[in-house]
Amino acid sequence: MSETTNIPATTTVGIVGAGPAGLLLARLLHQAGVDCVVLEARDRAYVEQRQRAGVLEQSTVDVLRATGAAARLERESIVHDGIELSWNRRRHRIDFPELTGGSRVWVYAQTEVVKDLIALQLVDGAPLLFEAQATAVTGADTDRPVIHYTHEGVARTLSCDYVVGCDGYHGVTRNAIPADELTTYERVYPYSWFGILADVAPSNDELVYAHSPRGFALLSMRSHTVSRLYLQVPNGTDPHVWSDERIWDELDARFAVDGDWKLARGPITQRAVLPLRSSVTEPMRWGRIFLAGDAAHIVPPTGAKGLNLAAADVTVLARAFEQWQRTGASAGLDDYSRHCLERVWRAEQFSYFMTTTLHTAPEQNPFDTRLQISQLDRISASPYAAAELALNYVGTAL
Ligand SMILES: Cc1cc2nc3c(=O)[nH]c(=O)nc-3n(C[C@H](O)[C@H](O)[C@H](O)COP(=O)(O)OP(=O)(O)OC[C@H]3O[C@@H](n4cnc5c(N)ncnc54)[C@H](O)[C@@H]3O)c2cc1C
Repeated sequence: MSETTNIPATTTVGIVGAGPAGLLLARLLHQAGVDCVVLEARDRAYVEQRQRAGVLEQSTVDVLRATGAAARLERESIVHDGIELSWNRRRHRIDFPELTGGSRVWVYAQTEVVKDLIALQLVDGAPLLFEAQATAVTGADTDRPVIHYTHEGVARTLSCDYVVGCDGYHGVTRNAIPADELTTYERVYPYSWFGILADVAPSNDELVYAHSPRGFALLSMRSHTVSRLYLQVPNGTDPHVWSDERIWDELDARFAVDGDWKLARGPITQRAVLPLRSSVTEPMRWGRIFLAGDAAHIVPPTGAKGLNLAAADVTVLARAFEQWQRTGASAGLDDYSRHCLERVWRAEQFSYFMTTTLHTAPEQNPFDTRLQISQLDRISASPYAAAELALNYVGTAL
């Protein structure tokens, strides 16, 4: 929707942010007959191209299917039945279906999830305004909170029954809640991920998480022809001072295994450095404001949980809004924060475990490294330890 005259000034649920959380929430609310409007600060092209997550849990795929947004996912995603861990020049495969009673994951880029949801929304969904930057949310403790935003250079307001902040870690919605009503738990890691996209077929059918004396590396993929690879690097690393050859040489060194496996090289099309952080803000609801996805919590990407947590939050929230609209009962809305935080903290613990088991901290001593190796040996030797990893990785039903 772009005609200025059609911009609504009131709605039932005002959503700030059109990342996966905001777009999926809008789709679920639209299906449930709950009126909503989405405001997104960036333009459509930017939102659709932003490289981020790529692994979807069963529960995320299920909700995308239920919203009718999974047609392309069914055709183009790659189903994965496991991951591989690499250390001491050998690999060990974690078999998801065997260890979890049948679960698996889907590799399908966040960019594609976002494109699919935007396309649906623009055909028959709730109003979605790009380049509509929320500047403040007021009235959290009243019956009509208001989103203040700027669109096409004009300052506007959107009056709502409820506001949902799906505006990510740097969003403004959280600021509408008095600081002394919120607690934020946080850990910043002493290393970052240097991520590249390369036009080359993935060198392995499944993701490879590598522990090495030179630091962590991850082999991932976006499609059958595009590889996504990551290197642990010091915080503050400038990705543009690394030559392509240096990147591939470093990846080769970290993925090295005995035998004749080789990492295929290809043109690098994108590069970026991502600092690693864990963060949870509690509660995820105050007054008539809800926080969902990265606006409420951040995980380091090692556990592949960020996008999946965002989808889980808004699935729970949409059910609660539907119940409220249909029956007037607010039990689901009242329970939203407690309900979501259980899953959030499980994902935080798993992401922390994966991160600290596989990365080499700057101050790490040989004792710490031997503990990591012992943990990895345990996962390869014990089906119970392997199952604990697998169950966390594939996630639980909603
Ligand atoms: C660089 C990066 C790489 C990542 N890589 C991985 C990965 O490899 N694996 C993984 O599992 N997870 C990864 N993640 C995490 C995952 O992508 C996020 O958890 C996921 O995007 C969360 O979705 P969201 O909708 O909550 O937030 P976001 O995707 O951040 O969306 C928030 C939206 O709100 C908009 N917004 C912000 N402020 C305003 C405002 N004031 N007004 C209006 N709109 C606003 C933003 O423009 C954005 O579109 C990565 C995250 C980042 C930042």
